[in-house]
Amino acid sequence: MGMVTQAMDGVGSEPGAFGKRIMELAERLAQWSEIPDGLTCTYLSHAHRSVAAEIRNWMRQAGLVTEIDAVANVVGRYAASDPAARTLIVASHYDTVRNAGKYDGRLGVLTALVLVEHLKRLGRELPVHLDVIAFSEEEGVRFSSSFLGSRAVAGRFDGKLLERQDADGHTLAAVMRDAGLDPARIPTLARRREELMGYLEVHIEQGPVLLEEGLPVGIVSAIAGSVRSSVTITGTAGHAGTVPMTRRHDAAAAAAELVLYVERRCAQEPTLVGTVGQFFVPNGATNIIPGRCELTLDIRAGDDAARDAAVSDVAAEIARIAARRGVSIESREVQRTATVPCSPRLQSLLADAVARAGITPRHLPSGAGHDAMMFDGLTDVAMLFVRCGNGGVSHSPREIITAEDADIAARVMLDAVLRLAETS
Ligand SMILES: [Zn+2]
Repeated sequence: MGMVTQAMDGVGSEPGAFGKRIMELAERLAQWSEIPDGLTCTYLSHAHRSVAAEIRNWMRQAGLVTEIDAVANVVGRYAASDPAARTLIVASHYDTVRNAGKYDGRLGVLTALVLVEHLKRLGRELPVHLDVIAFSEEEGVRFSSSFLGSRAVAGRFDGKLLERQDADGHTLAAVMRDAGLDPARIPTLARRREELMGYLEVHIEQGPVLLEEGLPVGIVSAIAGSVRSSVTITGTAGHAGTVPMTRRHDAAAAAAELVLYVERRCAQEPTLVGTVGQFFVPNGATNIIPGRCELTLDIRAGDDAARDAAVSDVAAEIARIAARRGVSIESREVQRTATVPCSPRLQSLLADAVARAGITPRHLPSGAGHDAMMFDGLTDVAMLFVRCGNGGVSHSPREIITAEDADIAARVMLDAVLRLAETS
């Protein structure tokens, strides 16, 4: 009886089978790398193109109608019998940062893949098209511009991006043409609102919350937008031995004060985070008082109001530091993205599936950006986070997950996708 019920739910696969396969496939994808020891897979490198071909091959074997599109996304459709049916996208990315972990991005792609492999095995048709998409570029490593793949599918690809250059001076357009892609076709990839019924993404949490709470999966409530600024402090350079401490206008000391303020202010609220990731003293030397200091600022929070309040407090502090120390501080905002709230409807769909799996549904914001953000305003988006081991470390070879957690995530997704498709 139990077996019959399982088959009717579509969860007929033996326990652990999804997780085992996801882990195996992640290992196989990790064999293609730009570096001998470790994993680096950036946009349209040889390794990247090999990974795309392999994913496409697996999708084909699962019976999907596949293509590698004009930005090198690997797209596979598990088609409904009605060609006019709406489309549910389940996606994530296959590029990586330098010296990456094996699961950031790829976990979401492989979870979607095992899900359709399973539906195909059961011969189960859905009343909606299920599009599995492996986005080609999310991390922004090669061209300093992130979300190239999802941007195109969401219709947000700005043609000016094609002029961007990589470290070797090759433009994005040239690199794409060399790989046999046609940049002129990018606008045709944009999906229309009417054809979509939702966007779901599985991703590793890249943080310690689920690990600390002993939960294998969690439901993302919102994806934090960030405000990024570039700050230049100009003081007065001078001889390190002759200028008395009371007469100095030390740019690095002013910058240090700012860094500590950002740390203090952003510790005041639970989802608020602030980071100075780059800090330079140009032409600095042991025996020179720093005349100039350049730093970057990245402030994020689960909601825009909390973030913007912190940004304006930092601006006020900048003015106070400048006045007190007699230095000039110029802060230029270089990027501002809005926080993307996940769909309440899809969140409760995922929460119900998590509860049916016997797990307490835990909603948590994402501090990291994800492909899902690109679909905000185009269709309902939701994300399922999977517990990270090793203290929650990601963007590192130390990034790990367990096969058990991957299995739970796949089962939760299968349950949620089937219910969503039925209510379409
Ligand atoms: Zn990612």
